[in-house]
Amino acid sequence: MESPAASGNAAKILIVEDEIKIVEALSAYLRSAGYDVSAARDGESGLAAFNASNPDLVILDLMLPKISGEKLCTEIRRVSRVPVIMLTAKSGEDDKVAGFALGADDYVTKPFSPRELTARVRSVLRRSADGVSPLFSRMSWNNGDLEIDLESRTVWKNGSPAALTPNEYKILARLVKHPNRAFSREELIDTALGENFGGFDRTIDSHIKNLRGKIEDDTANPVYILTVRGVGYKFGRPEKMETEH
Ligand code: CA
Repeated sequence: MESPAASGNAAKILIVEDEIKIVEALSAYLRSAGYDVSAARDGESGLAAFNASNPDLVILDLMLPKISGEKLCTEIRRVSRVPVIMLTAKSGEDDKVAGFALGADDYVTKPFSPRELTARVRSVLRRSADGVSPLFSRMSWNNGDLEIDLESRTVWKNGSPAALTPNEYKILARLVKHPNRAFSREELIDTALGENFGGFDRTIDSHIKNLRGKIEDDTANPVYILTVRGVGYKFGRPEKMETEH
């Protein structure tokens, strides 16, 4: 594939992030991939840089000094459909859903690998260049170990598509949209499988068992779909949060 630099028309990427190590690592990676990279360290200078440089894509940290990433995204969306990839270390994944509501095109949870993010950048830019709406709800955990695209209803485990049944997908999607919220078996049947589903509520257990077999490394010690004793299940944030930055 021709690199953006080789075409003499490198895509401009603006990184707004206050953690210098992340900025350095990402900038180096994106530059070596041929992009024209600039960076701002807080929301205020990020907005100024956006207005001044008219970037082709913005990588936006959520927790920023001066103007938050959310506020900055809202400001950008008022004037532009430029693709925005959000970075977040926030613990609540409700924040992730809120980010999409603000108009982010993609979401990457820290820790992430610069390589993974560069692949996302390429993908978002391609969609944007194709005129395809860049709005898609893709999330990933543990450096891309588990990825879900709610738009195309696709799940990847360790980079390979996971063959979920429609019911397994519905259960997983329901759980990830409300992380850390404990769902009863009955709720999961009603909301994921439909109120007309006639199964006994323990039916959910066999779906969960199969789902874990497809997305967990060790089904005896799940990190994604956790059992909530006496209640049912929840999507727990993976504990392996040590960063590589
Ligand atoms: Ca930050």
